Amino acid sequence: MVEEQIEDQQATKTRTVTLKTLTLPSVISVGNLAELVHAEPVQLIKQLMRMGVFANVTQAIDFDTASMLARAYGYSAKALTGAGQQGSEELTEEDAAKLQIRPPVVTVLGHVDHGKTSLLDSIRKANVAGGEKGGITQHIGAYQVDYNNQIITLLDTPGHEAFTAMRARGAQVTDIAVLVVAADDGVMPQTIEAIDHIKAAGVPIIVAINKMDLPDADPDKIKRQLSEHALLVEDWGGEVIAVPVSAKTGEGIEDLLESIVVLSEVEELKANPDRSAVGVVIEARTDKSRGVVASLLIQTGTLHQGDNFAVGTIRGRVRALTSDSGRRIKSAGPSQPVEILGLSELPEAGDTLTVVADERAARDLVAERQRSAGARGVTLEDMTSRLSSGSVKELDLILKTDVQGSIDALRQALGQLSTDETKVKLIHASTGTVTESDVLLAVASQAIIVGFNTRTEPGARHMADLEGVDIRLYDIIYRLTEDIEAAMAGLLEPKQEDIVEGKLEIRAVFSIGKGKASAGCYVTDGQVGRGSMARVLRGGKELFDGPIIGLKRFKDDVRQVTNGYECGLTLDGFNEFQEGDVIEAHRLQRVGGGS
Ligand code: GDP
Repeated sequence: MVEEQIEDQQATKTRTVTLKTLTLPSVISVGNLAELVHAEPVQLIKQLMRMGVFANVTQAIDFDTASMLARAYGYSAKALTGAGQQGSEELTEEDAAKLQIRPPVVTVLGHVDHGKTSLLDSIRKANVAGGEKGGITQHIGAYQVDYNNQIITLLDTPGHEAFTAMRARGAQVTDIAVLVVAADDGVMPQTIEAIDHIKAAGVPIIVAINKMDLPDADPDKIKRQLSEHALLVEDWGGEVIAVPVSAKTGEGIEDLLESIVVLSEVEELKANPDRSAVGVVIEARTDKSRGVVASLLIQTGTLHQGDNFAVGTIRGRVRALTSDSGRRIKSAGPSQPVEILGLSELPEAGDTLTVVADERAARDLVAERQRSAGARGVTLEDMTSRLSSGSVKELDLILKTDVQGSIDALRQALGQLSTDETKVKLIHASTGTVTESDVLLAVASQAIIVGFNTRTEPGARHMADLEGVDIRLYDIIYRLTEDIEAAMAGLLEPKQEDIVEGKLEIRAVFSIGKGKASAGCYVTDGQVGRGSMARVLRGGKELFDGPIIGLKRFKDDVRQVTNGYECGLTLDGFNEFQEGDVIEAHRLQRVGGGS
């Protein structure tokens, strides 16, 4: 059988041990830290997940986080001098005592029209934190409610796309997932997708059976259907709480909040409010008068006005903080949503904000993040070497097929490939094409996508290219299982092919300053994408071959231009375009087994 259960990780307890000293820079990649503490990167990644930080091997973590991890492996971290640290004071044994209970961060997920937005609205109306019922509430991407003096943070963007997109960017912010299922409709494809995305993230679930006010509401049917998808609620011998609610009448909403509070107590969610803040961007926009406005969720520490920070690869200093109720505040603590001013550029949702001592430390952190940036997905070849080196013990797959029968057949065939040492795990299997949501899940979970008798949506293809996610399409079952088996045995050889994607003709050449030129082209065949390479041909002779760095339609940057359209193209290192030159857009593509 294919393993479907997500392992529940036990939190490591702090012990009194003699610590070896380890000198660390202000930021370090997870992989490098793993080497220094003689641990497997995957162990550090799991540990980080428990701390609410989702990182992969190449990702940079700050000194505070790194030293906490190092402690778990018996090292006491010292800051590299000159790195300009704040909070670089050794984390001593009493730091465990500095941890305080923090509010749970909740995301609502479920099938379209099952009532996610309505549920968020009804919770918000009934219990706005700070006793400002009926007052003007700000939309800042998340809000807090006060249920019997217990604060709960709710993320305003429901759905598993947003949830997994954040994870794909390295930010796991959700502590509890509320899965909404409409009582009159039942478990639908997106319900199942949401369940798999939540399970892959290892986040505990509460089921809200919504629309209980409707006459044809059938909660027992929902519970049975959930059990068919390995989600066992209490009535079915499982541990998942299911709460009947109506977002329309408000029935059951208090019970739902109560369940969230109880579950968050079980989870013992804690953070140290006394350290420098780490937060995650949940939304960002440019405001005409105020400049860049970013909404953050503080994960640990306290963010103060005046703090220097790096968010993603942007540096800044907090100019002002606004709470979810629109009040100016001076600081924000763990699990608190806050809107800040003080960024020069627009960050992306999921970017991590790290407070640092000064501008110099911010520069170091940005430099490190830039160095470790790059594709975040994995290929089957990557997994082959990780499996054979023993740094991972499990191959996670996302399976898309034409029909349900193929899923059943492949589930069985793949299940037989698991050994005592290494497991094949289907983290999501469904019928249909490979979508962007599948690609995000693959990035977030370091999984491979395998398709059987299906195809990839163009948007998903593009995203997979950008993120370095492996999508392997097959039309013969044994080819698929053969490749997976080879990967498990550490025997898979990378196969690459150069594929011409499109042909363009240069119709005009524009100077864009500093000796650089842009080629005005017409796509005569196929397509050209931002991630493609361009081969410049004149009279059949190749003049240049290199990456496309700019692709525009009129004034807008675009990802792709297809046959029959015009575009402006700039290349890295070539400006001597002439009218009549031909450009071949091509890329190196890994080739899977079947197609
Ligand atoms: P979402 O797509 O999951 O965010 O769903 P919405 O919140 O937009 O709700 C979809 C539809 O279901 C809307 O017409 C809502 O008014 C309706 N709806 C949501 N919750 C309830 C409920 O508890 N009872 C009833 N009768 N209708 C509801």
